[in-house]
Amino acid sequence: MLELHCHTTCSDGTLTPKQLVHAAVRAGVFALAITDHDTLSGWSEAIGEAQHFVLEAPQVDTNAASQRLNMEIIPGVELSTVHNDRSLHILGFYPDADKLTVPLSERLEGRKRRADQMVAKLEALGYPISLPELGEGMAPGRPHIANALVRAGHVKSTREAFDRFLGDDQAAYVHYEKFSISEGIALLGNCGAVPVWAHPYLFRGGEVEEVLKELVDAGLMGIEVYHPSHTPKERKNLEALCDRYGLLRTGGSDYHGPSTDGTPNSSKLNMMHLPLSLLDPIKQAAQTLR
Ligand code: AMP
Ligand code: ZN
Ligand code: FE
Ligand code: FE
Repeated sequence: MLELHCHTTCSDGTLTPKQLVHAAVRAGVFALAITDHDTLSGWSEAIGEAQHFVLEAPQVDTNAASQRLNMEIIPGVELSTVHNDRSLHILGFYPDADKLTVPLSERLEGRKRRADQMVAKLEALGYPISLPELGEGMAPGRPHIANALVRAGHVKSTREAFDRFLGDDQAAYVHYEKFSISEGIALLGNCGAVPVWAHPYLFRGGEVEEVLKELVDAGLMGIEVYHPSHTPKERKNLEALCDRYGLLRTGGSDYHGPSTDGTPNSSKLNMMHLPLSLLDPIKQAAQTLR
């Protein structure tokens, strides 16, 4: 099976890239994309680890020899952009790391400045926290701040942290630094990455059909149709939009690893049960950008 949307400890996931690869193998994933927020730091560890796994594909024809496949890591990223004052995430598959790493480092610095601003807001509200030191190339996000609030005893769960402080309209929330959808899509395209709108129905800044037109004009190549947050009706709408605009369909669980505070997980690895056949058109699209 195919899993095209996952996070590791390089951004706000709770499993290291190595642990994520192990969990993916156990969940029946043959091809796994590493799509951390604004960083490529997780790829190399995942690629190294995946080499240890040769997987047995299920036999379709009982007379045929079973097929053995190497666990495949798909290099990816989830870029944070701002549209109509709301965050809009764009996945990029197969970027050229040599080209993308330097421009991404400015986005990473922006995430660090934003995290410091949220910490300052919480301090002013009477809820001081300290964030763990994140290494070079690691992307801090709101989940890190939510965990720090739990550790400091200010809230009982990360859910409470989002509900009271960190949710998009709450007092300690800070927007990403300015980075438009067209800047984001151009950056991905110029670095050889296939740009895909992540979880469109989670976007709060406009109607999906209207926003999609702007994204397509900017060079969007696909839509993340299959995401745990989408209803069956939303999925159908997105499939129809892919057909109308000739866009690729992608999907994934948006897995962030097990929660650290007992909050139930909203997603499980491989929960979208996607066939490997979705990957070939994405690879072909990436070729056209080379
Ligand atoms: P950021 O990119 O730093 O704004 O953080 C976004 C991440 O926070 C998402 O990928 C989710 O993992 C997490 N997140 C966003 N909203 C919530 C929420 N209401 N409850 C729990 N986690 C959330
Ligand atoms: Zn995340
Ligand atoms: Fe996202
Ligand atoms: Fe994500």
